[in-house]
Amino acid sequence: MLQLSVIAPIYNEEENIERLTERISQAVEKEFSDYEIIYVNDGSSDKSKEILDKLAFQNSKVRVFHFTENNGQTAALAAGFEKCTGELVVTMDADLQTDPEDIYRLLPYIEEYDMVNGKRATREDGIVKKLSSVIGNGVRNKITGDDIQDTGCPLKLYKLEVVKKYKLFDGMHRFLPTLARMNGYKVIEVPVRHFDREFGVSKYGVWNRLFKGLKDAFAVRWMMKRNLNYEFEN
Ligand code: UDP
Ligand code: MG
Repeated sequence: MLQLSVIAPIYNEEENIERLTERISQAVEKEFSDYEIIYVNDGSSDKSKEILDKLAFQNSKVRVFHFTENNGQTAALAAGFEKCTGELVVTMDADLQTDPEDIYRLLPYIEEYDMVNGKRATREDGIVKKLSSVIGNGVRNKITGDDIQDTGCPLKLYKLEVVKKYKLFDGMHRFLPTLARMNGYKVIEVPVRHFDREFGVSKYGVWNRLFKGLKDAFAVRWMMKRNLNYEFEN
């Protein structure tokens, strides 16, 4: 069995893919020899597709899956979760706003916990995004009854069974720690570093993120309330 799967969703990230791959390989190879990098191309319209295909051809660690159209970040992550085989699974965004080296900040916790969620100790996103994130997390927690401080941090580490158990719907990438808990898994948040996006642009505006996230929080609340949680007698 593979030791580690690294998954990144890709939507118009042509400037980022090569350096992302270098940085992931550099970081991961310090401790893991047996790993895969899974890129799910979410219907990019730039050169991402060609770059990814070339990379997969040159580098046997890289596995690439192309969607026929843009299906959104949750779909891209769900596809990665479907395809991955590593005992441990790491997700990150393609833009290097988190550093692959910080996997090692999460790793010490994965024995005791089933999911280790990064928590952006510093935010390099500008005041508006930062504020909307604080408000977003606060309101989401109020609605779902959870206490996750940074559900949107791209860097996350999981045991394989956690990602295989998810049944995701569009927008649910904003609730992954809460959904893991709902499925009975132990989740902890651990500080990681955060950086400015150097290349390419953010795919979200402040308002669409905030309002969609809020609406979805009620769906998650409903799911938690109606979650089936039965055990058999011995
Ligand atoms: N992404 C995707 N499909 C989308 C939008 C985004 O696969 O429809 C990917 C994107 O390429 C990146 C990650 O999801 O790897 C996060 O996107 P972004 O950096 O724009 O989000 P932000 O950091 O602004 O929250
Ligand atoms: Mg980003």
